[in-house]
Amino acid sequence: MKPFRQEFEIRQPLAYRILENALGQKRSSHAYLFTGKGGEDKKRAAFLLVKSLLCEKADPFACEECALCERVEQKQYADFVYRDIREEKTGVEDIRSILSDMQKTAMEEYGRRMLVLDHSELLNDNCTNALLKFLEEPAENTTIVLITDELDHILPTVRSRCQIVPFQALSVQDLEEACRKEEAEADDIWLVSRICSDTEECLAVLKDPLFADAKEVFYNFVVNLSRGWDDALVKLENDEAIRKGKTLAANKNLKEVLRYFTDLLLLFFATFHEEEKNMPEAMKNARRKLQGSIKDTAALQEILLDSQSLLYGRIAFNTGLVLDRMVYRMKEAQNERR
Ligand SMILES: [Zn+2]
Repeated sequence: MKPFRQEFEIRQPLAYRILENALGQKRSSHAYLFTGKGGEDKKRAAFLLVKSLLCEKADPFACEECALCERVEQKQYADFVYRDIREEKTGVEDIRSILSDMQKTAMEEYGRRMLVLDHSELLNDNCTNALLKFLEEPAENTTIVLITDELDHILPTVRSRCQIVPFQALSVQDLEEACRKEEAEADDIWLVSRICSDTEECLAVLKDPLFADAKEVFYNFVVNLSRGWDDALVKLENDEAIRKGKTLAANKNLKEVLRYFTDLLLLFFATFHEEEKNMPEAMKNARRKLQGSIKDTAALQEILLDSQSLLYGRIAFNTGLVLDRMVYRMKEAQNERR
């Protein structure tokens, strides 16, 4: 296991100090909310925190070497649960039963139960309510770490019951540099470094053929958009990559393509009012043609974020329907503004 402490201190000095103080004064909070675009750093810091609560050599951070630390790393410590809400297998019942286990006496001799929920902004209402109930009256000797990139999507009532630990994003320049080392094309460097939050993610996206598909769909869409919304939305539904994805066998691929597509479109609307030098030509042209006809980019972004909460959420659904609904709502939002 690669120790994280040193990297953590250099890259995330603020988060490091907050946790160092909390651990040093033995005033560890019942609930933490790790927020920001720090990518993998948040998850690794959560594991380090859990280890630090258990490790006998903690000073105040864990040694990251002993058998206990290793068991946490391997998720083999009985009283520690890590769940990524993005992953399909995490269901409502799963979260409920984990939270109810948190109320019970710990199984291991250290007597502390710990839970880390990654991408916690994607918890559905049922789970959020169960979580809120737990946070209102936390059981003794329990620690919960919620991880999120999107603080805005966490209920204020949940937020206010957690100690917030802010993480910094790697800069776009850092990510661009990482993409450049892979000899990616200029347009890809620009896009990928802006939709990803860490270098590992960038490299995975650059290699993903579904990203290439999504990029085509995206470019076609923005070009068509400058000729009119209705037309562009119809063409989007009939795009080859989308139609291929709508066949049952490829439904999973469609989901991936749509995740990337909504990321790219969010980026398009987020940068709609400020042109940047290295922005891909197709985006620049579409922006120029659309200035004046799209006023409320915030409403469109909201629709895209809603769709993403389904695309990244737990519930099984027909991906094609998510697309249909998204298209319908975008059309409606645009019509309202005429
Ligand atoms: Zn240790």
